[in-house]
Amino acid sequence: MKALHEMGVAELSHALAASQVSSTEITQHLLARVTQHEALGCFLHVDADGALQAAQAADARRAAGDTGALIGVPLAHKDIFVTRDMPTTAGSKMLTGYRSPFDATVVARLGAGEAGTLPGAGMVSLGKLNCDEFAMGSGNENSAYHPVHNPWDRSRVPGGSSGGSAAAVAARLLPAATGTDTGGSIRQPASFTGITGIKPTYGVCSRYGMIAFASSLDQAGPMARSAEDCALLLSAMSGFDERDATSVQQPPQDFHAQMLSARAGASAAQPLKGLRIGLPVEFFPAALAADVNGAVRAGLAELEKLGATLVDVSLPRTELAIPVYYIIAPAEASSNLSRFDGVKFGHRAAQYDDLLDMYKKTRAEGFGAEVKRRIMIGAYVLSHGYYDAYYLQAQKLRRMIADDFQRCFATQCDLIAGPVAPTVAWKAGEGADDPVKAYLADIFTLPGSLAGLPGMSVPVGFAASKEGGGMPVGLQLLGNYFQEGQLLHAAHALQQATDWHQKTPAGF
Ligand code: GLN
Repeated sequence: MKALHEMGVAELSHALAASQVSSTEITQHLLARVTQHEALGCFLHVDADGALQAAQAADARRAAGDTGALIGVPLAHKDIFVTRDMPTTAGSKMLTGYRSPFDATVVARLGAGEAGTLPGAGMVSLGKLNCDEFAMGSGNENSAYHPVHNPWDRSRVPGGSSGGSAAAVAARLLPAATGTDTGGSIRQPASFTGITGIKPTYGVCSRYGMIAFASSLDQAGPMARSAEDCALLLSAMSGFDERDATSVQQPPQDFHAQMLSARAGASAAQPLKGLRIGLPVEFFPAALAADVNGAVRAGLAELEKLGATLVDVSLPRTELAIPVYYIIAPAEASSNLSRFDGVKFGHRAAQYDDLLDMYKKTRAEGFGAEVKRRIMIGAYVLSHGYYDAYYLQAQKLRRMIADDFQRCFATQCDLIAGPVAPTVAWKAGEGADDPVKAYLADIFTLPGSLAGLPGMSVPVGFAASKEGGGMPVGLQLLGNYFQEGQLLHAAHALQQATDWHQKTPAGF
């Protein structure tokens, strides 16, 4: 048997089912690895005692004959999900010392379950993972606590905002982690660290207990080594939740079965026969890094070999997604973050004159620079006199961006593919004084987010140039609403035929 940290979710699940290993042994092994690689900065909180207790409970469940696939498999949660038994900070000083009275729905469903309902999936949570403050960022450098280092090259960022989740999976500290994606925060760090991540259709995973950034965009999803591992987690964490008003009313999905179900007319050699993959011309601009273009084209060539047909399509408002997102997301954030005023949650300034002064000092001390920038942009675009020019206009364009996708899916293609990001992971500190540069790098993930579509990042190779430093590259696959099964099917077929997703950074 392989070393326990070399095994993904499905492999651990099989080993547990065959009683080759116990959850307690896996958990102990991974806790030791987490300590050994503490310098990567992935974790904001490690709960060794809680994890070992949950592992014992999982072993007892299996011994009693419970066969749930995920029972006893470890993971950790992005620190944007609230947890009853651990602190939750959202990567912000504002929430230092905060304890939630309840678990987020996603946390409960993957773990011990929701009170008064069926048992959860029985996964063992090792702790809380670092992220950009309130999930605002693309490099994890906006965490108020410490940065996360990319395990492929520690001088580079792991991507963001789910940077701790991505680095921990890439460094084989965990077989899987939760992430959230508002404008790319699952897909982009997955691409930057060579792992697989899926952001489902808006509304598929409950937002209850996910600290809100931009509520009309926020979605949870799994980050793991393979499409198969993601499918196993997504089945457990998704589903209707009456506590989230935007939760989609649909019966529980078995994404693993959907991933495996064969296409009509497909064969073993050509599992993707008949699948039309659209390549938006706007996703392959001349300025795209050659490192990214090369790997993405290699991935597309593999998909073709597997039977898929590549067709040219157009998403003409791609560039507009940047200003539209950077109006809508800050507008919603400025409203969502107004609750952090020193009264109910977390930090409160030590000294103040009156109530207004308390609000001002608390917020000045508690929020970092990027969060303040977004609150100011959001308050501005929503203000009287500017609302029509910015916010309303952005909402209209958002609809047009979504319509562009529908035109493609209606007649031209089943899936859309392209790069996740225009470059590979950049060096830490690069562009720290230029927020707009980071915003521009979100160009390929924002359109799908604004449309509410499901999207994945799948590893397709490594940068070949000297500047690229051998960093991993992800292929983005976007599907129509509720086509997670089709996305996972295509990604799984690719991963059955290639081994990019199995590569491990040196030293891990
Ligand atoms: N990088 C984008 C931003 O900073 C996306 C973040 C996210 O998806 N949470 O807003």
